[in-house]
Amino acid sequence: MSTILRAIQGDITKMPVDAIVNAANSSLLGGGGVDGAIHRAAGPDLVHECRLLGGCKTGQAKLTKGYRLPAKHIIHTVGPVWRGGTNGEPELLTACYRSSVELAAKHGSVSLAFPSISTGIYGYPIELAANLAVSTVRTAVEQFPGIQEVIFCCFSQADLAVYEAILKQ
Ligand code: ADP
Repeated sequence: MSTILRAIQGDITKMPVDAIVNAANSSLLGGGGVDGAIHRAAGPDLVHECRLLGGCKTGQAKLTKGYRLPAKHIIHTVGPVWRGGTNGEPELLTACYRSSVELAAKHGSVSLAFPSISTGIYGYPIELAANLAVSTVRTAVEQFPGIQEVIFCCFSQADLAVYEAILKQ
């Protein structure tokens, strides 16, 4: 059975999936945007666990418990800051999606939700990022059939429209 990929508009902290992905910064100690929302919703135990992880490099991913979230696990990945697109941004963003899927599979996740990594404060253009997200996840899940559902959780209606158009292709 092949993995279902879909996009929804919503708040990723409320998603009842096995694992949600956080667009974190390299300190893993919380920040703005989706990272701040996840830390607020998960509660203070999250930052305690994050302190033990020693940060995370761009393109890599680390896993914690979900604490007060409906999700069992949080996969923290650090997206690239957009600097025009010729500074390794696509390779690094691909690595984020790829390592997050791998880590989710390793921990037995059946369902997984992603935010639109790097397209907020980090400035990655949404069309480019969404195309890369969908194609990378589609390829990665072929190798990990235990993952049955991947949700692209869009914060805005505009982002949802971009993802839906790509998912139809
Ligand atoms: P980055 O620093 O990687 O760009 P941001 O958190 O600034 O990360 O933005 C990534 C995406 O997450 C943006 O599309 C932003 O609108 C979205 N976002 C912010 N809060 C939430 C939330 N609670 N649930 C889902 N997506 C969110």
